[in-house]
Amino acid sequence: HVAQAFLFTGPRGVGKTSMARILAKALNCEKGPTITPCNKCKNCVEITRSNSVDVIEIDGASNTSVEDIRSLQNELLYPPQSSKYKIYIIDEVHMLSKNAFNALLKTLEEPPKNVKFIFATTEPHKVIATITSRCQRYDFHRIPIKEIIEQVKSITPKEHISFDDGAIFMVAKKADGSMRDALSLMDQIVSIGKDKITKEDVLQVFGIVNIDVYNSFVQKIINDDEKGLMKDFHQVIAEGNDINELTLGLIEYFRNILMIKIGIIPEEVHVDDIDALSSVCEHFSEEDLLYAITILIDTKDKLRTSSHPVLILETTMLKIANINRLINVDEMESQTITPHFVSGKKKETESTEKTVFTQSHTKKDEKKDKKAEKKEEKQEEQKELTKEILDQEWQVLRKKIRDEMPIISNHFSKAIVKNITNNFVHYSTNSRMGYNLVNEEIDKITRIFSEHFKMPVKVVVEFEEPKTGKKYLHGASYDEIKKKSPKLADMIKAIDGYIIEQKPDE
Ligand SMILES: [Zn+2]
Repeated sequence: HVAQAFLFTGPRGVGKTSMARILAKALNCEKGPTITPCNKCKNCVEITRSNSVDVIEIDGASNTSVEDIRSLQNELLYPPQSSKYKIYIIDEVHMLSKNAFNALLKTLEEPPKNVKFIFATTEPHKVIATITSRCQRYDFHRIPIKEIIEQVKSITPKEHISFDDGAIFMVAKKADGSMRDALSLMDQIVSIGKDKITKEDVLQVFGIVNIDVYNSFVQKIINDDEKGLMKDFHQVIAEGNDINELTLGLIEYFRNILMIKIGIIPEEVHVDDIDALSSVCEHFSEEDLLYAITILIDTKDKLRTSSHPVLILETTMLKIANINRLINVDEMESQTITPHFVSGKKKETESTEKTVFTQSHTKKDEKKDKKAEKKEEKQEEQKELTKEILDQEWQVLRKKIRDEMPIISNHFSKAIVKNITNNFVHYSTNSRMGYNLVNEEIDKITRIFSEHFKMPVKVVVEFEEPKTGKKYLHGASYDEIKKKSPKLADMIKAIDGYIIEQKPDE
């Protein structure tokens, strides 16, 4: 028995459509259905040439209307002309409109005889479940770099052109899991007309920034040489390198360092580069690297709409260069800054409390704070935020923060409330990265709090060295959780986890 419908999923260029044609041949070969179509009979040859009347290829991206599907339904009434099956190959099936989907579903529910569907999609999650459940599904995967290299090598001798290993590696890497792209890239590189093609040729033709550039950037960051870093950076820009490529390259570079740091050698790393990356990774903590990757991804998004892309990437590079200073909280704590915001209002009993201010706490912020302070004094008599109110409202509040800042919200949720005095909510976190990220957006969080509680609230997050036995639970210590539910506490301990949210009655 052959299924009525098939669903081929996977990234572009991994052979979904080619496989769909092979399947069509397997079904319609004059000697079939067979798993080894002859490739010689009339049916096979026509399918290869994409001119079989019984194998209809439809591009979901350009045939999305109900009319298209209706005409398809009408056509389905006619039997195949010269083959066993009428086969519809619908590429990018997720692009069909909802109405078109429903029309298609009707067809699938009452399948006409001798009709088969082969759906292909790069985004299976967008295909509705009622369709996927009626399909036999096959997931296609990105082809590993190693396999692309082997395949490309087996083809190149025919071209009478030699490639060095580095060149083939770069092509395979740029192909990003797609054999089709790899072959097209090879064509492009061959067209430069050289007999011997080197890694440098590939880098130049495709505008790829060499890893040496990133290595040199990072050396400057490690040596705290901001001037040198900027000089290098401007040099690379002056050479005409694309700023988006450079940003993507930096993301990949830091991602590779992070992977090596946690003991994985990514396939995208050439064997010659492992040593250099390994020596770099000693200078960064995992959180430093995650922080660098996070702000680079953020930068990548900002570049899309900015008219000052160089400035944006420049700032990000300097932020990364300052990682080591950013996390030097011990030094900051020793200065024991009393927050201006609460001066004069703070109760005597809490004077021992140390508060660390954010890096971004500039004079401008102080002005803002003064304003807020005046406002607050007006309303403070009427309302005061308490731990109970905060706990009650936390789920709603958390959602508001998550809607605006998904990543930040995740980190913020791990912080615990130290105390609340005069609408001054004091959080602490054991995560340096969480501390850095949350503090970057502390003004936004403060605004969300103030808007939510309809009164001026100030939020401050402090970094605290992790202590054993203390877990990241919102508003409750490990011991408190243990009292309520020993089982849950055990689980948290076992996986070194934390509670993100608590649903009622659970
Ligand atoms: Zn055949």
